[in-house]
Amino acid sequence: MPDVSLYWFRDDLRLSDLPGLAAAASQGAVLPVYIRDTDLGGEWKLGGASRWWLHHSLDRLQRDLNALGVPLILRTGDTLTSLCQLANEVGARQVYCSRQYQPWAAELERTLRDALQLQGISLKRYPGTLLHEPENIATGSGTPFKVFTPFWRACGKAPPPQQPLPIPPLSTPPGAIASESLDDWELLPQTPNWASGWDTIWEPGEASASLALTKFLENHVHNYGHGRDVPSEPNTSRLSPYLRFGNISPRQVWHAAHNAKLFEPGRSSSIDKFLSEIGWREFCYHLLFHFPFMPNDAFNPKFAYFPWGSDSQRLRAWQNGKTGYPIVDAGMRELWQTGFMHNRVRMVVASFLTKHLLLHWREGEAWFWDCLLDADLASNACGWQWVGGSGADASPYFRIFNPVAQGEKFDKTGLYTRQWVPELAHLPDKYLHKPWEAPEAILAQSNITLGESYPHPIVDHKTAREAALTAFGTLKAL
Ligand SMILES: Cc1cc2nc3c(=O)[nH]c(=O)nc-3n(C[C@H](O)[C@H](O)[C@H](O)COP(=O)(O)OP(=O)(O)OC[C@H]3O[C@@H](n4cnc5c(N)ncnc54)[C@H](O)[C@@H]3O)c2cc1C
Repeated sequence: MPDVSLYWFRDDLRLSDLPGLAAAASQGAVLPVYIRDTDLGGEWKLGGASRWWLHHSLDRLQRDLNALGVPLILRTGDTLTSLCQLANEVGARQVYCSRQYQPWAAELERTLRDALQLQGISLKRYPGTLLHEPENIATGSGTPFKVFTPFWRACGKAPPPQQPLPIPPLSTPPGAIASESLDDWELLPQTPNWASGWDTIWEPGEASASLALTKFLENHVHNYGHGRDVPSEPNTSRLSPYLRFGNISPRQVWHAAHNAKLFEPGRSSSIDKFLSEIGWREFCYHLLFHFPFMPNDAFNPKFAYFPWGSDSQRLRAWQNGKTGYPIVDAGMRELWQTGFMHNRVRMVVASFLTKHLLLHWREGEAWFWDCLLDADLASNACGWQWVGGSGADASPYFRIFNPVAQGEKFDKTGLYTRQWVPELAHLPDKYLHKPWEAPEAILAQSNITLGESYPHPIVDHKTAREAALTAFGTLKAL
């Protein structure tokens, strides 16, 4: 009887550079499977935008596999039961997968390994999500890093990531195996379809990920170093949802970027900056792996005593992009309308929520979790704690972004703000980021009635800043 293996797809929805799939294929016939386990992750089960990306990634993967004559089996249920059952159904001797790092992943992999072993089936787990496994990067005393710069330096001293693997030749066991239909999973929003139009902006899947990387390295990376903070310009890669769902591997990104450096040494510093952001992704995973409480609890324990507010009206105004601060509102509306927000603006809106509105970073983390296409447990928690001041290697709490100055500095032309807050489109640049300072005549000429067509600022910057510093002061005494 030929050797049959299952390949269990998780957050690695691609065919190339997938060490587990390559290993499975080298052993004989492979049956690929994706399990929809709606209980997995508990409160961190997939948000709405992530479900949209998952649907389209699975659809693409299924078509890519079908083109090779291989099915993708879809099953719903508890992961352990579903995999054990399917392995028995097809007489699989091995189950292959990529390793994951969420707080629940190691336990799931352990219990699955034990359950399969009882049936004489082995679980074979491979890397596939990171450049370096979290245990392989440690301080001189063997402890996890808590500061980015030495972490990334240590990554640079580790053996370089292996060359990406090609798509392996795949054969599949004979006979039809029952699979559910992707459409029946209803991962896409129905009524209302808040994602309408997203397919004109995004094309999930492996081929598009690779194209996005190539285009970025050919046309935009030279602007990355100096232009990555300008949200109206296409100077960043927008690879984050592809990386989140494994449509592309960080090794593929790393090697392509290094090759680009060899061909165009003039772009080296921009490419190094870009790679260091891939390094931040690694760092976030390193932290999540070693400090699994990170999505729920402050890294700095003092922040457990921070006097957070609980004003639901303020939270709603922030979520809906109606705070009266144009750059904040632009970011929140970009998020709602596209499932994405530029990194600079993520920092501005996160600072505004935690410092101007004194609302808990977990409120922001949860909203991002639901709305971001790239919602990632490690990077999201790390980003929120970094901005909120409670994280490892965090921005100091007393550094409070002034949303007017941030708008004037990073959206000087107003292109970004005017795109997402069209009711301010006719306001002259001078007042775009502070419409409340515009004379009545200019507001009238620009068709703006503050308090009606666009809100008054929800808080006064100076007063809010002082309140935040006072709140922070209560921690100093601890
Ligand atoms: C409050 C907050 C929440 C965030 N939540 C997420 C999240 O849920 N998922 C997510 O992928 N990123 C998150 N980020 C990080 C960052 O904003 C996005 O990765 C970036 O904007 C994605 O755009 P890009 O692909 O064009 O990035 P590029 O600038 O082109 O960077 C390349 C890749 O590096 C990684 N990267 C870049 N910056 C960071 C960073 N600061 N931290 C971790 N990885 C980074 C991403 O994978 C990104 O695709 C968050 C940042 C903040 C401040």
